[in-house]
Amino acid sequence: MAEPVLQARSLSISFGALKAVDDVSLDLKVGEIHALIGPNGAGKSTLLKLITGELSADSGTVFLGASSMTGLGAAARARAGLAQTFQVSQVALEHSVRENVLLALVGTEHRSFSLFRNIRRDAAFGERVEAALRRVNLTDEADAIAGDLSHGGRRRLEIALALALSPKALLMDEPLAGLGPDGTVQMTGLLGALRREAPILLVEHDMDAVFRLADRISVLDYGRLLATGTVAEIRANPDVRAAYLGASG
Ligand code: ADP
Ligand code: MG
Repeated sequence: MAEPVLQARSLSISFGALKAVDDVSLDLKVGEIHALIGPNGAGKSTLLKLITGELSADSGTVFLGASSMTGLGAAARARAGLAQTFQVSQVALEHSVRENVLLALVGTEHRSFSLFRNIRRDAAFGERVEAALRRVNLTDEADAIAGDLSHGGRRRLEIALALALSPKALLMDEPLAGLGPDGTVQMTGLLGALRREAPILLVEHDMDAVFRLADRISVLDYGRLLATGTVAEIRANPDVRAAYLGASG
């Protein structure tokens, strides 16, 4: 079996007396969507932040491929290929959709912002921008001002910005939150396809979507990992049902 793309090993963090994430290990394999579920306050968002480097762990290690991310901040981890969406919107609302993707690419390439005008004429860059827009189905809205996009359109733009980093792994915190039925269908389809480009660690409340999309599921409860398994294994797990699924059937 191939080496995991991403591994979290024994991550822990406390906020005062609260052990928000307590000795959690999980991994992300090539081509998979690994969903992270659990009750409100279980530590899901905190665990993602420990992986992205937004928070530094009290103990534990994150590996991207064979590389330890210990000591690297969020920006360095993003450059290494850990792409996160939806925590902090990076969208520049006053710029067009296309300019947002272009800016994300410029950032990735470490080119100076003052080169923006020249890069704009650069054919290779242009093609990468168009490819990212096509990927998230925003070609028709490329010239729209980002601030005028629908909620779903903005979410898809955020994914395009993450894709501009050519990520090795995608981390998403509740990408379906606030989307209507159409937006949910569209985003679910997009996530299902994206796993082939980069595996996805997906925190999501919408259990229908989780059961439809996930290759594996991990369950957090009070900061601890209760179980990791296939959808069928997790649905059948008595501890999981007691902690979480029991309430919703
Ligand atoms: P989830 O995403 O699973 O709903 P969180 O990771 O947001 O849970 O939070 C886990 C626990 O840690 C909660 O009790 C929350 O109140 C607490 N928490 C999260 N971030 C902080 C913080 N920066 N300072 C103090 N407590 C926090
Ligand atoms: Mg959360």
